[in-house]
Amino acid sequence: MPALSEVLRSADNGDEGPAVAADRFLSAAHPRYPGHWSHPPRAWVRRPDEAALAGELRIQLERAVADLPERQRTVLVLRDVEGWDAEEVCALLGLAAGNQRVLLHRARSRVRAALEPRRGGRMIDDDLPCNELVELVTEHLEGALSPAQHHRIVGHLAECEGCAAYLDQIRETRSMLAALPPEPVSRRLPADVLEVYRRWRAERVPRA
Ligand SMILES: [Zn+2]
Repeated sequence: MPALSEVLRSADNGDEGPAVAADRFLSAAHPRYPGHWSHPPRAWVRRPDEAALAGELRIQLERAVADLPERQRTVLVLRDVEGWDAEEVCALLGLAAGNQRVLLHRARSRVRAALEPRRGGRMIDDDLPCNELVELVTEHLEGALSPAQHHRIVGHLAECEGCAAYLDQIRETRSMLAALPPEPVSRRLPADVLEVYRRWRAERVPRA
């Protein structure tokens, strides 16, 4: 059996690519709003605290998790469904802290996108383009940004409906994942991760 770090470092081209499809943003050459949303997300009407995590939404969510590339799915299931700390996931998978956040953010972004039904919104004037902000959302939520970056993001979010909706949806995606029963998504963990995971579950009091 290969070491965990080998499994997780193995080529997985599905991990590449932006958090949000490039065609959702204006081009870098746009005279007024380079890199800002052309088709921003609109706020979700439904909320994860509704009893709605049964039925169609839960099926969509499980399918979105199942469709993730393996490394993203592993990090997302352990962090957001199972509630592991970043440090625990890094230690188990042999990941650097920054890589763990990148994989987590790409995974959350893909799940969010899979649940997104509509497009709409308005434009704002800010030198931080929306397509850069959306890449930093998990860094922001994990407290990994410098005070200056944090300040810019908070300023942008106060003005930009699209990015504010995007941040809310990443948070809601995380909340919905935390409300998923660990089975059956945990069964999709790589075999050697699953072995460690089952030992961990057997030894620990389940988290709230
Ligand atoms: Zn924006």
